[in-house]
Amino acid sequence: DEVRKQFKTGAKLGEGTYAIVYSGHYKSDPSSLVAIKKIKVNQDYKDGIAMDAIREIKFLSELDHPNIIKLHAVFSTKDQNISLVLEHLPLGDIETLWKTHSISYSPADIKAWANMLAQAVWFCHENYVLHRDIKGNNLLIAADGTVKLADFGLARSFADPGRPMTYNVITRFYRPPELLLGARHYGGGVDVWSMGVVIAELAIREWFLPSNTDFEQLVAIYDVFGTPTEDSWPGVSQFEFYTPPDDSSVPAPANGTGPSHRATSPSQSTQSSIKRPQPLTYWRQRFPLLGEDGIDLIRGMLTLDPRKRLSAREVLEHRYWTNAPRPTKKEDLPRQG
Ligand code: ADP
Repeated sequence: DEVRKQFKTGAKLGEGTYAIVYSGHYKSDPSSLVAIKKIKVNQDYKDGIAMDAIREIKFLSELDHPNIIKLHAVFSTKDQNISLVLEHLPLGDIETLWKTHSISYSPADIKAWANMLAQAVWFCHENYVLHRDIKGNNLLIAADGTVKLADFGLARSFADPGRPMTYNVITRFYRPPELLLGARHYGGGVDVWSMGVVIAELAIREWFLPSNTDFEQLVAIYDVFGTPTEDSWPGVSQFEFYTPPDDSSVPAPANGTGPSHRATSPSQSTQSSIKRPQPLTYWRQRFPLLGEDGIDLIRGMLTLDPRKRLSAREVLEHRYWTNAPRPTKKEDLPRQG
């Protein structure tokens, strides 16, 4: 109650799946804007949603970084709901940015936004926090142009490697192959994959890996990165949802004993489910705004085998950030409105 009385709630800013967000300010200082996120109660999900809110509180209160949304306070409302008082981030989000075609932006702008995201993810991982829901819609933009990672509802600590985790996390388009295959032990690589997808979307201004089902999501990933094999990804065949590729259309190696018994009909050969990774020319054509360095970086972030994927630290050490063009200064970034 004491905490609640410090704030004045204003107009509704937006509504998400589990919260309504209002504008507000400290009563002591009407110029100090905040966002008040009131967690919705739904009788059926009350416990789960309260858990999400408590996770968000726990992780946000531990992370203090310029590219991570600041949590000012937490209070319970009269109707026993939880409200989070968050930093006010009025300039929309990264997904809206690439969707708004009246805003044009350059390779240097993409580099600046991508770098702020990479700093945020690195800081989470340094502090043993997995975000687990990185997507354009969760990257909000402050009045001064700073990108801030928000929505820590799915975050969890990865300090406890022994405990199995759920694979049903991360919005589908951003979900890495190990989660789609059912991995229950995973690490920072899940966030690095999501970050790679976000940067790709910023560069092409459309969804990079859209799909309608979890199975289609794997197909979309394999269409670009090729079908994983035990050679490219040791252990991949052990995952719960791994399906061995139908290799009936791949010609048997010629061994001089006459026609292959695996000769196939034309219709079968067009159905080959073993896919080869797209060549560098595909990346150059689709991602001209990233340049050679940016392409190398996102391919490192989007490596199928999570053990070979770049870590958040390696992402920050990449030459993309220091080579030309230099990232745009945040006060010079294009903005909405
Ligand atoms: P979702 O993640 O489903 O969009 P949220 O509950 O996180 O749901 O947010 C709902 C809406 O409220 C957002 O789309 C945005 O318009 C607004 N919003 C959320 N957080 C803030 C904030 N810190 N500052 C300003 N507006 C916000």
